[in-house]
Amino acid sequence: VPVSRIRNFSIIAHIDHGKSTLADRLLQFTGTVEDRLMKGQFLDNMDLERERGITIKLQAARMKYVAADGETYVLNLIDTPGHVDFSYEVSRSLAACEGALLVVDAAQGVEAQTLANVYLALENNLEIIPVLNKIDLPGADAEACKKEIEDVVGLDTSGAILCSAKEGIGIEDILEAIVARVPAPRDTTKEPFRALIFDSYYDAYRGVIVYFRVMDGEVRVGDTVRFMNSGKEYEIDDLGVMAPNQLPVKALYAGEVGFLSGSIRAVADARVGDTITIAGKRAVTPLPGYEQAVPMVFCGLFPVDADQFPDLRDALEKLQLNDAALKFEPETSSAMGFGFRCGFLGLLHMEIVQERLEREYNLNLIITAPSVVYKVHSADGSVVMVDNPAQLPAAEKRAFIEEPYVRISMITPKDFVGPLMELAQNRRGEFTEMKYITEARCELVYELPLGEVVTDFFDQLKSRTKGYASMEYHLIGYRRNELVRLDLNINGEPCDPLATIVHRDKAYQVGRALTEKLKELIPRQMFKIPIQATIGAKVIASESIAAMRKDVLAKCYGGDISRKKKLLKKQAEGKKRMKSLGKVDVPQEAFMAVLQLE
Ligand code: GDP
Ligand code: MG
Repeated sequence: VPVSRIRNFSIIAHIDHGKSTLADRLLQFTGTVEDRLMKGQFLDNMDLERERGITIKLQAARMKYVAADGETYVLNLIDTPGHVDFSYEVSRSLAACEGALLVVDAAQGVEAQTLANVYLALENNLEIIPVLNKIDLPGADAEACKKEIEDVVGLDTSGAILCSAKEGIGIEDILEAIVARVPAPRDTTKEPFRALIFDSYYDAYRGVIVYFRVMDGEVRVGDTVRFMNSGKEYEIDDLGVMAPNQLPVKALYAGEVGFLSGSIRAVADARVGDTITIAGKRAVTPLPGYEQAVPMVFCGLFPVDADQFPDLRDALEKLQLNDAALKFEPETSSAMGFGFRCGFLGLLHMEIVQERLEREYNLNLIITAPSVVYKVHSADGSVVMVDNPAQLPAAEKRAFIEEPYVRISMITPKDFVGPLMELAQNRRGEFTEMKYITEARCELVYELPLGEVVTDFFDQLKSRTKGYASMEYHLIGYRRNELVRLDLNINGEPCDPLATIVHRDKAYQVGRALTEKLKELIPRQMFKIPIQATIGAKVIASESIAAMRKDVLAKCYGGDISRKKKLLKKQAEGKKRMKSLGKVDVPQEAFMAVLQLE
């Protein structure tokens, strides 16, 4: 079709507002996926995504639609991940589009992710079509929802579409609105080839599959492409469109969306945001917006069984082929032995990687609590980045420490404003602003250290608001604070994986809570175990775990057989996740104790 009949669009929404359900309906209505093949949420095809109800990886789908004007249009839907950890990827997907459907649950209204995504869409100059979803629900209030969008986002909602993705209401209106309101791509077929990568994944047989939008010019099977930022060159083996399954084509032109493969070794060679050009052709400037992946959260991964160290390295290398943002390097800990220090975009990214290591590679790991990256200034003016509390230089060697700060936006029913302010203040938050979205709901904005968010901030937010509040945050820079390193000794031995960096004013409170928590979590042994929290040489809190009494053991061995079996089974399960530090067995939960202090 001519470029005037191509429409490239995304769907942006807060989690659970119906993005995947609507995408399914669009595919069905346009006959792109046959009804009998519709498995529900066609776009979310990773197990992990389905279980968590989130979209991790972007996908794209091409639909053919005969509009009311009798013409056939090609509609390319480019999906976006739905989590703040991946906002760079969201922004690149949006940059590949001319328009976006803004889906808002009409019974819930605007949420934190709605706002964050709308701002990204506006930055990319997209035509935004508001869609009020779930109008089948008795609690839906489309008029109130429109008013929220106008007041908070400042979008004109006179053309908003009422929809029920579940019942299939409003689907045709949405397709017509895409055709009528989303601009066609510019026709730049005559210009030198440039394409924007909005997704890529590793396939064990074909190498990396790259999803891209042709911005200018044309590309053909057999061309040798160059990825401008990585500098890598590959010859194209396969070129095609997603209809929604991969369909080969000979060439793709300006405005079109497609995929290519060419025995590309790793996703890092063809990363999201990179510009594809044709090797040896006249030089062009790269498309704007490319960013290096910067890990924000680090943790240690140690095999329970030291023999699994090589397996862990292999697994991380394999995952990295498919995940350009994952960083790792070997770490040796006096307490834990050999492992890896790993860097992630955020907490969700960290959880996904950990889960995949355990599920897909069958590794039995001890994972240490997440840490952010500190900027440590020394007296001579040099600066080191420290992502491991155990490696923070000693107090006399440092001048001061800076830590990363985020601006966090929380949207909540007004009844929970008090508890949320208290939460933010406990986490060293500085109040920025509070806005009423409607009479009943408001947005609270705070600036606070990322280190205070990567603990259990999200869980706390949910539990203090009965699940009604939502949040989003983004990095705003580094700030200097009075930070100290809190060390833990167990049975007289320093336990470096438990070291943590805290604000001086909270150090005593955290030290006390942490020793108490460890006392709860570490099982008794035949001897007494002292636990101490220290800052430098000074002990600030101590506890001890009493030795196991003889009669406790006697009971275990005396009971009936089934009980004894149960006990043994329980012990065996417990064993799986224990690390021996000196003579003491420390369970996985203890390494995360610092996250559960409230
Ligand atoms: P996503 O997180 O934005 O992709 O949301 P999903 O498409 O996964 O939908 C979240 C939940 O809302 C699912 O249980 C859907 O069945 C439900 N849902 C989606 N659209 C509608 C709708 O129009 N009406 C109702 N009642 N439920 C819907
Ligand atoms: Mg979804």
